[in-house]
Amino acid sequence: MPKPNILKIGSGYINKVEVLLKENRISGKLFYITDPVIDGIYGENIRKQIEKVGYLKTEIIDCNTISYAMAVAERVIATDIDCIIGMGGGKVLDVCKYAAYISKTPYLSIPTTAANDGLASPIAVLKRKDGKPKSLGCAMASMIVIDTEVIASSPLQLIKAGIGDTISNYMALQDWDFAVRRGRDTMNGYAYLMSQASLDALMKTQYDHICLEFVEVLIKSLVLSGIAMDFAGSSRPVSGSEHLFSHALDYYAEVKNFHGIQVALGTVAILKLLGKSYDKVLEYLKRFDVDINPMRLGIDEDTFVLCMQKATSMRKERYTYLHEADMEEAKLKKIYNELTEEL
Ligand SMILES: [Zn+2]
Repeated sequence: MPKPNILKIGSGYINKVEVLLKENRISGKLFYITDPVIDGIYGENIRKQIEKVGYLKTEIIDCNTISYAMAVAERVIATDIDCIIGMGGGKVLDVCKYAAYISKTPYLSIPTTAANDGLASPIAVLKRKDGKPKSLGCAMASMIVIDTEVIASSPLQLIKAGIGDTISNYMALQDWDFAVRRGRDTMNGYAYLMSQASLDALMKTQYDHICLEFVEVLIKSLVLSGIAMDFAGSSRPVSGSEHLFSHALDYYAEVKNFHGIQVALGTVAILKLLGKSYDKVLEYLKRFDVDINPMRLGIDEDTFVLCMQKATSMRKERYTYLHEADMEEAKLKKIYNELTEEL
């Protein structure tokens, strides 16, 4: 029998975990992995449902290092776990995603936030020993259940970050086209279309504020972005120069902001640097009150300039517009100051 590949998005799904596991003939030893906050809110409900299906083993995590994810994988293998059930935000889900991939174990993912397109991607971001993030290729979860009510009740800033991560497809797709024209990358038309559809679904939404219906649109957009990565076999369809800038911020900046907010800032800043139109993107971000003013994000002029200049060194093989752009310090300072006024 082929492995189940389940994707459910909608209201009330958090109460259907038991049904879903039964429908997919999942039983035996079930490893429920979450963080302390999420366990406090939803743990009782989820654990009760799991116990009706199989033997429950619980792990409460507060760390997302590569070595920790490897240790989880080792325990999954050593104790013959039949299914991993991960519930939480990116940290928990990336640990589970990687552990499921290494241990080749079915994995039910239950995201509680929609802060980025890692929701359904084949990439896990985990921390190295020195605390710096590292993107690791793995596989998408075999089962994903997203309850829109759970996401809608998560902190607003996380939802705004999700908007920012989808918006960044706008820049990423232009960078991909550019790299292909320069003979520095190959095109995958299916993945390109998928990323474009993800962007369009969000940009063309009828909603003008964050409500339950809008959250569903956002989740579908983020999942489509994740599938685009799976199609392409890399993050190329959703990650261009704006992501390189964000990676540089993660590496060099002292202040930490959400990934989705950083890539949205990168999108607008780089479009501006290239003399391209960014009105549509900015209008959209303003409509949903997504603040990307670098000064208010705690990114000072020097850090902005440094991270713009270091961006292309963050991933050597990812060719983008920035590789041929004018990265003069004076010009970047001017962009920074104009952005702090405009945004
Ligand atoms: Zn991203």
